[in-house]
Amino acid sequence: MTVQTSMDQFTAITDALRVIVGPSHVLCDAADLASYATDWTGQFKNEADAIAVVRPETTEQVAEIVKLCAANAITVVPQGGRTGLCGGGVPVAGQPSLILSLTRMNAVRAIDPAGRTVVAEAGVVLEPLQEAALSNGLIFPLMFGAKGSCTIGGNLATNAGGSNVVRYGNTRELCLGIEAVMPDGTVVNALTGLRKDNTGYDLKDLLIGAEGTLGIITAAVFKLFPKPTSRATAFLSVASLDGAIDVLNRLQDYTGSAVEAFEFMPRAAVDTICTAFPDIRRPLETPAEIGILMEVASSRPHDAEEMDDGSIRLETQVMELLGALMEDGLVLDAMIAQSEQQRADLWRMRESTLEAITETGPAYHLDISLPLANIGPFVAEMDAAALDAGFQPVTVGHLGDGNLHYALMAGAVHEWDSLPLDATKNVAFALLTRLNGSFSAEHGIGQSKLPVMTQLKEPTQVAVMRAIKHALDPQNMINPGKLIPELKN
Ligand code: FAD
Repeated sequence: MTVQTSMDQFTAITDALRVIVGPSHVLCDAADLASYATDWTGQFKNEADAIAVVRPETTEQVAEIVKLCAANAITVVPQGGRTGLCGGGVPVAGQPSLILSLTRMNAVRAIDPAGRTVVAEAGVVLEPLQEAALSNGLIFPLMFGAKGSCTIGGNLATNAGGSNVVRYGNTRELCLGIEAVMPDGTVVNALTGLRKDNTGYDLKDLLIGAEGTLGIITAAVFKLFPKPTSRATAFLSVASLDGAIDVLNRLQDYTGSAVEAFEFMPRAAVDTICTAFPDIRRPLETPAEIGILMEVASSRPHDAEEMDDGSIRLETQVMELLGALMEDGLVLDAMIAQSEQQRADLWRMRESTLEAITETGPAYHLDISLPLANIGPFVAEMDAAALDAGFQPVTVGHLGDGNLHYALMAGAVHEWDSLPLDATKNVAFALLTRLNGSFSAEHGIGQSKLPVMTQLKEPTQVAVMRAIKHALDPQNMINPGKLIPELKN
């Protein structure tokens, strides 16, 4: 629904919003609109269609705002930390909308150390939530580079993944319940935190990954986990991508499924990072063509015991296994972090990838997933096609989950604008279709992936999504123009 807001209506709406949230939390200045209407990528920037920004502090205020907007046919764009990479959190062009920022709803409402759960509001930033868990001797294991800015509402709305999914699952697996405001302003409170509750459709699972198109998440209950007391972190050079999967499985078998992260970092990625950020040290003297950043962690006291040589048992076990993997020719070289600082340096390198690519130049980012057995064939065929077309592929990935962040950058002697991007993207999509992959593993669809959603998503699934959207939001008032392709006439 496209709405033209007259000056009188604008004044009436903003006045009503000020009554709900207080005058200082309705932002209409050009500078505020510009900043809230621009996402992390800078590619999605649309202050022209931002009617205003409203910053509620309570669920009741969110409900009142949504009711006001529904009554006045004003569309609402829910927004967290604006770190989403697909333009989901800013208004679409030609669709004047109210931006509803959840960042003031930032209370950790309760931590239950015995039940190992936390209830947090949607605007809580991921890193402070991790710290709150740690201060209770537990961890909240969601982990990725945007942790200092992204909110848990955004994490839920995009079903965010990251580096620890191999052990703990996506945001969906971490969530036990949700509180949300539906498109008609009704508040759904499912914050019981039950681990078992088979009483009908699971509304949290509808809202998680819906990218704000079905309602506004205001709070959630999450699982917490025991804090690891021993860790082994290493950077490996492995002989092949197929062999890397064997390394992962051997590590899982040997450590009792204690692998927390298994990140693919080939040479082009490490080169790009270390060139963009010269203070980041290369982990191995002889660069790894196929590098893996791996971490194993345990909360078992036995694994944290000090051995005769002063090392920790878990580290010794991992070193033993790496020795065996080297003898088998699967691992060629390894650097094992000897201190917390070395571990932090390795993670800083990994988490700088996106910034390094952005610093280096224009790029097209594929965020894809494949069955583990098809990762090697995809990378081999896609790298060849990309290089042939004049691109430099720069890939990192959560290999344990079959998820690759595959960036196409301009090769050394090529101008970005002269490169055949659409044709090369189509090579990738055809390969994904052939190899049973997905064109969006964890970043979602937003605005940027709508064309490929139209092109590749099974039409019957899109039709069911439209039916759900229509049932819950018949006027298309909440986050229109995102996730679900428009019906073609
Ligand atoms: P926003 O960007 O503000 O919004 C994202 C979407 O969620 C929008 O559609 C918005 O409308 C909706 N939304 C936000 N809050 C709510 C709410 N309360 N209720 C309903 N809908 C809402 N993602 C990964 O999955 N894995 C990674 O490893 C990863 N690494 C990243 C690294 C960097 C450096 C950056 C910049 C991003 C990365 N991302 C990653 C993407 C991003 O951080 C996640 O998508 C994050 O979950 C978005 O949270 P946000 O609060 O910034 O949401």
